[in-house]
Amino acid sequence: MTERHVLVTGGAGYIGSHACKALRAAGYLPVTFDNLATGWRDAVKFGPFEEGDLADRTRLDAVFARWRPVAVMHFAAISLVGDAMRDPGSYWRVNVLGALNLIEAALAAECRDFVFSSTCATYGDQDGVVLDEDTPQAPLNAYGKSKMAIEQMLGDFGASHGLNAVIFRYFNVAGADPDGEVGEFHRPETHLIPLMLDAIDGKRPALTVFGTDYPTRDGTCLRDYVHVTDLVDAHVAGLKWLEAGRGSRVFCLGTGRGFTVREVIEQSRAVTNREVPVIWGDRRDGDAVALVSGSERARRDLGWQPGRSDMATMIADAWRWHQSGNYNR
Ligand code: UDP
Repeated sequence: MTERHVLVTGGAGYIGSHACKALRAAGYLPVTFDNLATGWRDAVKFGPFEEGDLADRTRLDAVFARWRPVAVMHFAAISLVGDAMRDPGSYWRVNVLGALNLIEAALAAECRDFVFSSTCATYGDQDGVVLDEDTPQAPLNAYGKSKMAIEQMLGDFGASHGLNAVIFRYFNVAGADPDGEVGEFHRPETHLIPLMLDAIDGKRPALTVFGTDYPTRDGTCLRDYVHVTDLVDAHVAGLKWLEAGRGSRVFCLGTGRGFTVREVIEQSRAVTNREVPVIWGDRRDGDAVALVSGSERARRDLGWQPGRSDMATMIADAWRWHQSGNYNR
């Protein structure tokens, strides 16, 4: 059988690079398309690399013509909520126009299967509710709105051109490849677990906890964390779902269990056997109190089993990555 190529936009980033590894292991050839704005050339390890920008339709057409992918996994995006508040134009331009270019280039090349990386930020702030695929979306910022617009765009092209899309709405993604080949490396880093591990390791003076007066069991925000390898396994299952002709579908990816910031800190202390230097700070603008996902649909329809998504394993995998030469490069 000829090798099946999958175009992975954002394949040089955190989740995209793990997706490439999972695709390769499942027998596909992942072709990374990335402009390296926030991705890393040395994270492209599992297939060819095509440097390019989603704004460049000519370049996209050439890449589709060269590789004839059977499907697209679309991760490339800008994704910082704080930036989106200051500079909404970039989010509409890069995320929404980029996706439009990508979809039109894919359809022109007769590639109709899409796996799309969406987010729980499309729900906005619905504290106390377990969020699932039927929860109404009400994004609060241009980041969440841009992702919701792309979901709707995929739906429109489904109706008009037979495009099929599996859409994953992620909750908090954490951990790293257990083999240490790829991991989380953002510059600047804004996420809780990598910042905390840097503080434990002396790479930063301390972790600032954003708010201790939230209406949760210990006053800090509650989030649903999912291991990146479990997350990308769902993507491969989503691709197979499309290849089997089962049609467009939305799935939430989380575990259904929330952890407070204090609980994450406590677990890190236990896993690393080191103290976490903490500054108890003020709330961060735009933070929801609690975000927890229902994930029954992914388990039922895709047979998804998030086997590494317990907090101790996620922290242990991230900690091993943080101490490795690949992280400290
Ligand atoms: N957080 C924190 N200090 C930090 C970064 C994050 O207390 O330096 C908290 C943040 O308020 C949220 C949780 O950790 O409740 C997860 O934040 P992160 O930025 O990792 O992901 P988000 O939930 O914003 O997608």
